[in-house]
Amino acid sequence: MKFSQLIYERPDYEGIKNNLYIYRNRLLNALSYEEIRSVWLDMKKEIEHMEYKEQIIYIRYLSGIDFAESAKEVEMQNLNEPEIYAVRDECDLIVRNSPYAEEFEKEFGEMIFRRTGSLKPAKNPDSLRLKSEELQLKMQYKKIMACPNIDGDELFGIFDRLIETRIRLAESLGYKSYVELGYAAQNRYDYGSEELRNFRNDICRFITPICSEIKQSGIDLRYQKSILEDSKALVSAVKNMFEDMSEETGEYIKEVVEKELYDLKPRENKRKNLFTCCMIPVEKLPFIIANYSGDGMEMGYFVHELGHGFAFRTAAINQPLYEMHRSSPSVNEIHSKTMEHFMYPYLNMFVGGKEKEYIRAHLMQQLENMPYRCAVDEFEHTVYNMENRSRKEICRLWADLCEKYTPWAKPDKKTVESGMFFPYQTHISESPFYYIEYDIAQVSVYEFYGKMKNDCKRAWEDYMKLCRAGGSKSYFNLLKTANLSNPFSNNTVERIFRPIIDELTGLI
Ligand SMILES: [Zn+2]
Repeated sequence: MKFSQLIYERPDYEGIKNNLYIYRNRLLNALSYEEIRSVWLDMKKEIEHMEYKEQIIYIRYLSGIDFAESAKEVEMQNLNEPEIYAVRDECDLIVRNSPYAEEFEKEFGEMIFRRTGSLKPAKNPDSLRLKSEELQLKMQYKKIMACPNIDGDELFGIFDRLIETRIRLAESLGYKSYVELGYAAQNRYDYGSEELRNFRNDICRFITPICSEIKQSGIDLRYQKSILEDSKALVSAVKNMFEDMSEETGEYIKEVVEKELYDLKPRENKRKNLFTCCMIPVEKLPFIIANYSGDGMEMGYFVHELGHGFAFRTAAINQPLYEMHRSSPSVNEIHSKTMEHFMYPYLNMFVGGKEKEYIRAHLMQQLENMPYRCAVDEFEHTVYNMENRSRKEICRLWADLCEKYTPWAKPDKKTVESGMFFPYQTHISESPFYYIEYDIAQVSVYEFYGKMKNDCKRAWEDYMKLCRAGGSKSYFNLLKTANLSNPFSNNTVERIFRPIIDELTGLI
C-alpha cells in the first residue's frame, strides 16, 4: 500500500487515557513476571497504535497537505499527548520499581529503564498545561518559519515565550534548571555539560581557525548545480545507487519507491529548507520529507534522510520494541551522515564529473557547521539560565558566540543593537540540545569515512552492526558495537579531523 492510501483516523484519546489508567492499576497488582510483562507490552502497543495514526497526519501537516485540517489534528495531539505520556511514564516507573525489574532488563536489554531513571513524569496539572503550551508555541514558531517573509518581531515573541515556558516547566517538575530537563528529554545519559564544554573547546581550537583561513582566502567552495533534471531523476539515481550498494539497501529502496515514502514537492505551508525523516510505527516504514529546488547539495540531504530511514527500518526488523528502533541523536546522525559518504563512489551519477567540486563543498560545509553548532549549543546552555533575558541581552549573547566560534559570520554592532540578531535555528525551538549531537556524530562519521578508504567492506559491516542495534544499547556501548572511538576522549577530535582537513586543503 502506498503512503497516500493510508487512512487517517483521529485516535480515540479519551479511550486511550482510560485504558492507560486500567493498565496502570493492573501493573500495580500483577502477581507474576508473565502477567506484568504482558500488561506492559499491551500498554506499549496502545501507544504505538496511537502514534501510528498521529504520524500519518503529522507527515501531511509537515508536507503542507490539507494544511488547515491536518494542523487542527496536530493541535489535538498537542493537547492530549502530555497526559498520555505522563501515564505511560508512570507505568514504566511502576515496572522499574517492581520485583521483576531484573527480569525485564534481562529480556529487553539495558536501555528499557534508562528513560524512566531521569525523566520525571509530568503528572501535575501545572506541568501538563505548560507542556501543552510548549507544544502550541512550537507549532506557532514552525508556522512563522514556513512564511515566505518571516516577521522577526513575531518570531522573537514566540521564541522568548518558549524559553520562558520551558523554564517554568522545568521548575514545575522539580528540575534545577531547564538544561537538566532538556538532557533528559533528549535521552542523554552518557555524557554531561562538562564533556560538552571540552568538546566545544576542541572544535574551536582545531576547526575554527582552518575554516576562518579558507573563508578569508575568498575561495568559493560552494557546489551549486545538479545535473539531475528534476526530483524524478533524483529518485531514480538514488534507487540505482542503493541497489548497487548492498542487498539490504536494495530491498529498502525498492520499498521506499514502491510505497512512495517520500514527498519532495514544494508546497504552500511547507517549510522551504525542510529535510526530515519521519518514522511510521506498526508499519515500520520511514517517510522522507524534503523540498526539491534543484540546488546542488540537495541530493546529499535526500540521501542523508534516506540513511535515517534505512537505519530505522533495519533496527525495526531486528529489535522487538518500537522505542529501540531509534537511538539518541548522536547515534542516529551517524547513520544518516555516514550514508552521505557511502554515496561518494556513486557521485558521477549525481554530479557528472564534478566529484572533486562536490566533495570539497561537502567537506567544507560539514567543517564550517561544526563551530556554528557549538555556538548554538553554548547559546542553549546559557539562555535558559540567564539572569537578565532581555531581547538586547539575547542578541548580545548570540553575537559574542558567533565571534568566538564563527568569526567569519560576526555581525556589525548596528545589527546586534537592532534586536534582530538572535539565532533562527529551528532546532532551538523544536528539539533543545539536539543540535550539538550532529557534531558529536560527525566525529564517528569521519572515522567511518577513514575506514571506507582503507577497507570499504569492513566499514559497511560495522555500519550494519550499528544500524541493527538501533537504540538497544547505551551510546558508548553502541560505539563499541561498531568499533568506533569515544569522541570525548583525549585527542580523538584532532586525530580524526586531521586527515579530513588535509583532504580538503588538498582539494582547494
Ligand atoms: Zn539527520
